[in-house]
Amino acid sequence: MNITKPAIFPIPSELIEEFRAIVGGKYAVTNAADIAPYLCEDRDLFHGRSPLVLRPGSTAEVAAICKLATEHRIALVPQGGNTGLVGGQTPLTGEVVVSMLRMDKIRDVDVESNIMTCEAGVVLQVAQQRAADVDRLFPLSLGAEGSCTIGGNLSTNAGGTAALAYGMARDLALGLEVVLSDGRVLNALSKLKKDNTGYDLRNLFIGAEGTLGIITAASLRLVPKPRAIETAYVGLKSPSAALKLLSISRDEAAGALTSFELLADIAVDLSLRHGIDIRDPLQSKYPWYVLMELSSSRDDARDTLEAILTKGMEDGIVDDAVIAANRSQRQAFWKLRDEMSAAQKPEGGSIKHDISVPVAAVPAFIEEANAAVVKLIPGSRPVPFGHLGDGNIHYNVSQPVGGNGAEFLARWHDVNAVVFEIVLRMGGSISAEHGIGVLKRDELPAVKDKVAIELMRQIKAMLDPFGIMNPGKVL
Ligand code: FAD
Repeated sequence: MNITKPAIFPIPSELIEEFRAIVGGKYAVTNAADIAPYLCEDRDLFHGRSPLVLRPGSTAEVAAICKLATEHRIALVPQGGNTGLVGGQTPLTGEVVVSMLRMDKIRDVDVESNIMTCEAGVVLQVAQQRAADVDRLFPLSLGAEGSCTIGGNLSTNAGGTAALAYGMARDLALGLEVVLSDGRVLNALSKLKKDNTGYDLRNLFIGAEGTLGIITAASLRLVPKPRAIETAYVGLKSPSAALKLLSISRDEAAGALTSFELLADIAVDLSLRHGIDIRDPLQSKYPWYVLMELSSSRDDARDTLEAILTKGMEDGIVDDAVIAANRSQRQAFWKLRDEMSAAQKPEGGSIKHDISVPVAAVPAFIEEANAAVVKLIPGSRPVPFGHLGDGNIHYNVSQPVGGNGAEFLARWHDVNAVVFEIVLRMGGSISAEHGIGVLKRDELPAVKDKVAIELMRQIKAMLDPFGIMNPGKVL
């Protein structure tokens, strides 16, 4: 099965009018200045071009857009909050952008069943707040939660800081509504936990990065709201010490351990230097830090956290620690962590990796990768941080101080190659939670099982025979 290449620029003006008629005048954006924000993302790594941004307000409008696009072989790029980190949401070759932000209704909150049904354009923080309003928790949590959308979260299968306890976006979706490339609507908005009636089609679209269809709504799993949340910021000597603390935490807290983030000193320093209103929680400096959180339905989280830290100190693993005294201190700890990606930008070029290895292999991975990267580019500065509890490290490398940013970024694939070699040797993944998009598309065939790639291509050709859905991404 072959995927036909869709037509792109220029789109005849009559066709633009047909698209405009679907969404209504003001929701078809053709003015270059108004289109501009949809063409690049915050880190400025990807720049696109597009003659038209469509802002549908309903599933029926999305269906009509896809049908018309298929008839005329017009390529579409679905876009949510535009916070994706692999270029998946950028119209790189003049595709029409379908922005989902107007589809922002929470259709239903079923408290007894613990299910909330959201349209794709609902911003994650809004979904979290709505769950909190009915004394529930929607546990997906990530630095971009004030802008990213449920549709984007599902399309990238986002992970974030609480995946350790609650799983990734996939684990939180019970059902989906999806518009296919030909305009048909797949209604799989199940509220059922148990439903063994054939193939699990929902899971095809989760993590597909908009290449198989446009998600328009999802039924999402809620969990009881924790009664107590306790957060600690810990200073220690090494990733090995952090791993031992993780083990103690799991033994003591079991399912109550909701986050366990590892932070290199340089990542903390950059956040303190470039972030606004960020304070160092500890008096002294340490080579590594852990930001950990316990959430419990009982009032015992504080005692458990203290017991973990006491044992860590007795065992010589923990050098220093502070427990957030209140909500605002807890938020301050998380702000320090959440600013880490943005804080690398003022330092010049930064080569990004979002890798995972088995949890026990993280210390060896960091040690080997640091040595290999600095050998390749003397003076380059590894800035590892991320979700140690999931074996997922954002292994970013900043350019040498005073070096040439463009020259450094030109080595992107060389740096990737040495890092990925170590990752693959350790049985890891080159994309833990950000997806493939365009950033890792060319590496994918070399690292993924050949049969899996074949099946992915066949599924793509079957669901999108004219290749109009986010062409050039993932595959
Ligand atoms: P977009 O960026 O708009 O799109 C992302 C992809 O999904 C694109 O391929 C797009 O075509 C597709 N898409 C969007 N909406 C739809 C739809 N309705 N139907 C079909 N396809 C669609 N990610 C993590 O996993 N964990 C983190 O901890 C994390 N932290 C982050 C912190 C910061 C500061 C930033 C900027 C990003 C972070 N991300 C993280 C990445 C990003 O926030 C996630 O990938 C998020 O899920 C993207 O959602 P979005 O709505 O912005 O999607």
